[in-house]
Amino acid sequence: MTINVSELLAKVPTGLLIGDSWRDASDGATFDVENPATGETIATLASATSEDAIAALDAACAVQHDWARTPARQRAEILRRGFELVQERAEEFATLMTLEMGKPLAEARGEVTYGNEFLRWFSEEAVRLYGRYGATPEGNLRMITTRKPVGPCLLITPWNFPLAMATRKVAPAIAAGCVMVLKPARLTPLTTQYFAQTMLDAGLPAGVLNVVSGKSASAISNPLMDDNRLRKVSFTGSTPVGQQLLKKAADKVLRTSMELGGNAPFIVFDDADLDLAVEGAMGAKMRNIGEACTAANRFLVHESVAEEFSRRFAARLEEQVVGNGMDDGVTVGPLVEQKALDSVSALVDGAVSDGAEVVTGGARGSGNGYFYLPTLLNNVPRDAQILKEEIFGPVAPVVTFKDEADAIRLANSSEYGLASYVFSQDMSRIFRVSDQLEFGLLGVNTGVISNAAAPFGGVKQSGMGREGGLEGIEEYTSVQYLGIRDPYADQ
Ligand code: NAD
Repeated sequence: MTINVSELLAKVPTGLLIGDSWRDASDGATFDVENPATGETIATLASATSEDAIAALDAACAVQHDWARTPARQRAEILRRGFELVQERAEEFATLMTLEMGKPLAEARGEVTYGNEFLRWFSEEAVRLYGRYGATPEGNLRMITTRKPVGPCLLITPWNFPLAMATRKVAPAIAAGCVMVLKPARLTPLTTQYFAQTMLDAGLPAGVLNVVSGKSASAISNPLMDDNRLRKVSFTGSTPVGQQLLKKAADKVLRTSMELGGNAPFIVFDDADLDLAVEGAMGAKMRNIGEACTAANRFLVHESVAEEFSRRFAARLEEQVVGNGMDDGVTVGPLVEQKALDSVSALVDGAVSDGAEVVTGGARGSGNGYFYLPTLLNNVPRDAQILKEEIFGPVAPVVTFKDEADAIRLANSSEYGLASYVFSQDMSRIFRVSDQLEFGLLGVNTGVISNAAAPFGGVKQSGMGREGGLEGIEEYTSVQYLGIRDPYADQ
């Protein structure tokens, strides 16, 4: 299916979704969205003010009562219809993501499949929100617990997975009966705008989902978080911003879900199947141009297999085609913006001046876009900055280890605890190591583990709460306990 880009862009709403209509910002302000492969402006959107943010919360709160009482089956069917519409529009969503974020079209199609699964999964979960029934040990009370929608939510999403990060929050919130104000990332709002329109087309009542894109994130989030009507903030983004939001959330004791940064270790033991390990490394490192919170950030390889692993991995990296993600055959798109390119470049240069050896890559690509070549670094010193920060680019630093204890110590020596990967064929080692790894997610002999049916989330400074799985809907509910005088209490 060939998409006409200008016709597609003309279909994407450019206003703020407040209640039942897309409108201009109250002060008429706008901001531009750029294609990172070309540096061209592809759209201009309304930029929400603080007043607009509050108007969005007004619209949400106006329907919270009715929405919470809408039968779960009805909410489920809206999600299911949304899933079908996103599927029908899959090529449009994929194209929008490639245009505004840069990932190659084939990967963007993969994100549509992954992101859309949250609509299907939570359409199935919406009708399975159960409570408990029991009696107190003393026999004086019967106990019933129910789960109620937590209430109006602020959802803040990052730019790296423009569809999936939105569906992973919006779908469980709809399933649970919450209303919401969604703030997409400034760099990639188009996919979210089109997704919100798609949910309206699927029959989502006006006011349940409001979208306030804008150039100033805090001008939108601060007044909302100061408002007593808001009940929850669900944030996906960097740890420093998450920390700021957690401090702010404390003022009103808001419920929070925090999906923050990562610094994933990718551990290759001497008994690993190296073909699998290299395949896994390509997935864990190169998916999304390395711009993923789950991206392998530190390749920890047993010293006896390091040379062979690096040789094979470098060969695969050299096969990659860097360029505009809209072009056939391109497997590595641009980084999202100039700042991202400068940061990746500085981390590699720093590692090299600390003594790392460039096996392949190590330089910017050509053209107007923010391209960086797939890069493999060997002999990276254990204290190099590149091992401490999220690289967020197609760069793989390799560090060797001597034994299992050394590997575990190295892996855990980070304040992050999101994803980790282990390659080994020894089941007892796999369990022994996974017991000791301080990470919320562990890929065993695979480099890609995200799935709508699995609980996604981190420990340590990677955040709190889980998205997807059975856990994902619970984040949008609060438990109410009814203690009922036991009819036999006085007998
Ligand atoms: P970011 O923290 O800069 O921005 C994320 C979102 O927060 C954007 O919508 C942004 O506009 C908004 N924001 C920024 N400053 C804000 C403020 N002061 N108040 C309120 N909102 C604010 O992150 P990013 O660069 O968009 O995304 C990359 C980061 O996201 C990486 O650290 C990555 O690891 C993380 N991430 C985590 C997960 C996860 O599930 N754990 C998934 C994807 C990305």
